[in-house]
Amino acid sequence: MATLRSLNPATAEVLGEYEIADAKTVEEAVAEARIAAGWWAGLPADARRDRLLKWKRAIAAGSDELATLIHDETGKPFGDALLEVMLAVEHLDWAAHNAGKVLRRRRVSSGTLAADQAAALEYRPLGVIGVIGPWNYPVYTPLGSVSYALAAGNAVVFKPSEHTPGVGVWLAQAWATAVPEHPVLQVVVGDGTTGAALVDAAPDKIAFTGSAATARLVMAACARTLTPIVVEGGGKDAMIVAADADLDVAARAAAFGGFGNAGQTCAGVERVYVERPVYQDFLQRLAALAGNVKTDAYGPMTTPEQPEIVRAHVTDALAAGGRAVVGGVESIREPYVTPVLLAEVPEESAAVTEETFGPTLVVNPVADLAEAVRLTNASKYGLAASIFSADTKRAAALARQIRTGAVSINSVLGFAGVPSLPFGGVGDSGFGRIHGADGLREFSRSQAVTWRRFAPLIDLMRLDRDPVALERARKLFRFRHAR
Ligand code: NAD
Repeated sequence: MATLRSLNPATAEVLGEYEIADAKTVEEAVAEARIAAGWWAGLPADARRDRLLKWKRAIAAGSDELATLIHDETGKPFGDALLEVMLAVEHLDWAAHNAGKVLRRRRVSSGTLAADQAAALEYRPLGVIGVIGPWNYPVYTPLGSVSYALAAGNAVVFKPSEHTPGVGVWLAQAWATAVPEHPVLQVVVGDGTTGAALVDAAPDKIAFTGSAATARLVMAACARTLTPIVVEGGGKDAMIVAADADLDVAARAAAFGGFGNAGQTCAGVERVYVERPVYQDFLQRLAALAGNVKTDAYGPMTTPEQPEIVRAHVTDALAAGGRAVVGGVESIREPYVTPVLLAEVPEESAAVTEETFGPTLVVNPVADLAEAVRLTNASKYGLAASIFSADTKRAAALARQIRTGAVSINSVLGFAGVPSLPFGGVGDSGFGRIHGADGLREFSRSQAVTWRRFAPLIDLMRLDRDPVALERARKLFRFRHAR
């Protein structure tokens, strides 16, 4: 059996060795999940909730161990890893407590035409969900799909990133201990080949998180079996700084959003647009912060490919006429990259158009907020954005003009800890939603049920339709709709 080694990106130490799931193993896992899904979906909602909360308590109780594993596999500081677990648990708790309410059967109005019918809407589980995860937030991100899919009554087969298999195995073991009856959550370890096998096994939906390039491949494979898919892709999130903003708050947020997790955050800050009157002031404040950040505040690049992408973007930005205010190509000392602050970078540069996923920030001046919105929306990505302004009413109006799935005002990533809010993007950032009520419905199928309450006064749904009845219906119809 082929194996996969998990490495510590900071030290290259081997952390663990895991059996790679081949196509047959993946197919078997999906087949077992189908049986488990039947049992899970048949449980009363509160019985599912109690089991999910048992799993939640196991994760919370083991959070130090899990955070240590995240730290070891990704390189991010232990504190960041613990915060990730805390956020993920908050979402799991919300999903467990709210699934019954959000998805329960409800009576709806049957309207005028079908007054003889009673009507109800219900959300039923889809069956088996294949979850394919990334490495940058190996707990928070996949659990956004896993928790909500389980809470909606589905079984899950989860393929963690090949860079963080240990975290995935830990989560599945915690589940198996908390809910030993059936394998409702299973993990299959491997790289893209295992991911492709999971798609080929045709679960009832794929929840994919990763790059737009891989999303295109996965979606093409889903097309073969018409398997629906939710895509949580990358981003090139912009921060807008208005002239009336608190510049210290905005600069601190830019540093956290841009350099935190070594910039390896899908909804982190990659571009900053600042109104010209405060541009130099903001840049100086951010430069002072960036110049003092040590890499132990955010850790190494997690994968060996990332430093090369950062190098290419920084080189391109400088060649195109951008200015290195802090750092430059020399900041890349694999596996670490110290903060790079670039200014006045042409908008066509890869550092502005492509996801860099490194501790780099591009800061460009804008004439006004309308230009800031125009440049924000010029991206092929549309995951999240942030706006800093003393005028929160105006900022809320600006938010409506921004083409992203989320906007934070006077903070970055403000939505991450709000489990009742949906998360997801547009364009190359993907489609579909995880988290919140929308996230529960993403893993459900709506089912419309009607039942006849009485014989209708005007019955048109018969082959021997009475012409008098049709004429009556026609008059009523014109009275209601043609005036
Ligand atoms: P990736 O696209 O390289 O891989 C993602 C997953 O897909 C991995 O598990 C990988 O093994 C699997 N995979 C690769 N080829 C496959 C194939 N042909 N079929 C099926 N599965 C396949 O992404 P990554 O480098 O692991 O993650 C980083 C990316 O994820 C960034 O773009 C980041 O912005 C994005 N991301 C998005 C969110 C979000 O919620 N929107 C969250 C975290 C990360």
